[in-house]
Amino acid sequence: MSTIEQIAAALQGYDPQALAATSVNQFLARLVSPVAESETLGVFDALDRVLAEDVVSPISVPPHDNSAMDGFAFDGAQLAPGQPLMLQLAEGTAWAGKAWAGSAGAGECVKIMTGAIMPAGTDTVVPLEFVRVDGGQLTVPADAVRRGDNRRLLGEDLMAGRPALARGQTLGPAALGLIASLGLPTVRVFRRLKVAYFSTGDEILSLGDAPREGAVYDSNRYTVFGLLSRLGIEVIDMGVVRDEPAALEAAFRQAARAADAIITSGGVSMGEADHTKAMMKQLGDVAFWRIAMRPGRPMAVGRITEAGKSSILFGLPGNPVAVMVTFLAFVRPALQRMMGCRESDPVLLKAHSAEPLRKKPGRTEYQRGIVSREADGTLRVRTTGNQGSGVLRSMALANGLIVLHHGQGNVAVGDEVDVMMFDGVI
Ligand code: AMP
Ligand code: MG
Repeated sequence: MSTIEQIAAALQGYDPQALAATSVNQFLARLVSPVAESETLGVFDALDRVLAEDVVSPISVPPHDNSAMDGFAFDGAQLAPGQPLMLQLAEGTAWAGKAWAGSAGAGECVKIMTGAIMPAGTDTVVPLEFVRVDGGQLTVPADAVRRGDNRRLLGEDLMAGRPALARGQTLGPAALGLIASLGLPTVRVFRRLKVAYFSTGDEILSLGDAPREGAVYDSNRYTVFGLLSRLGIEVIDMGVVRDEPAALEAAFRQAARAADAIITSGGVSMGEADHTKAMMKQLGDVAFWRIAMRPGRPMAVGRITEAGKSSILFGLPGNPVAVMVTFLAFVRPALQRMMGCRESDPVLLKAHSAEPLRKKPGRTEYQRGIVSREADGTLRVRTTGNQGSGVLRSMALANGLIVLHHGQGNVAVGDEVDVMMFDGVI
């Protein structure tokens, strides 16, 4: 377990007062590691969980050569180019789940259903609709099929003993189905991550509190709750914590005991008169950064240790949009790493900007965008209007974040920009 100082020393060009967004990700990748514990779950319970070991197939899928169509099975060696083939229809049918018992000889064919085991002596299926049947006599028209057509081979999906899914994969619907197709009733996954969060600031009201001058209702706990829940994380909501050393100390200690990570919002900016930063320093090994980004900028990161157990701290800024953006840009990838996920950089789409965007090189900007598809099929993105870091509505209207990279300058109408889509993320 490296200290903040050790990680900082190992990073090229580390400047806590002007940290590039990519350096933040590199730092966090060194700070956090996957949870050690795993558990065995039934397949239905494993949706969205992360595989803790490779799944090796105990069987071949499909387990036999079988037909991909309803039709007639025969030995394709008898086919000759440009020639129709006459075959004698054998007695009985090869059903899915009920094999045809005999063996087809030369000049013979067997009626076969999709999924049925290929009868002995056959390797080709001609679909029903291609052939003429006359009494017991079948005619395969010239060049209707080639040898081996419409036959699914044993192990075509997966051979016994081969890895079907790799450790670190998040189990979506297809993976659940694949595990079940191997006959495996259970699967080993990493335990769920536990994350505690609280909001700080004396001006922050909880729902149910009467409005008062200068105070705002807490929204950060709700966005953080939503963002964490989407990741399948077990959340521990610790409410709003008063800006008072004893309350903050108790909250940090309790969170560090209970959770793998702690997310706070507020109280980490430069001119803060409050006690949040002081308490983070006192209880942990914490770095305080100014990140070259917008929105965002101030952030505290490190470990809080309580009774020999340490918990990763993400001290996010207070502004509601900054909370969501720093979460998506930095906290989410770090938590995914803790959950045991393989590297999972979000896929960025390219869209044409519908408007000019002012952008200073030397910082990463995340503008809230609405991506739509034009009649000609190209993607177009416009911003949601006022991009103030306190304007949560800009986030609520958006379907993605326009990512203007560190070195990038102004964007002209029609220029391509990168967009991190929310779909599947938040
Ligand atoms: P701070 O980072 O503490 O300086 O807060 C920056 C701005 O975000 C201030 O205007 C705060 O009132 C606002 N803010 C801080 N925490 C919250 C919260 N939990 N919900 C809504 N707004 C907040
Ligand atoms: Mg504050």
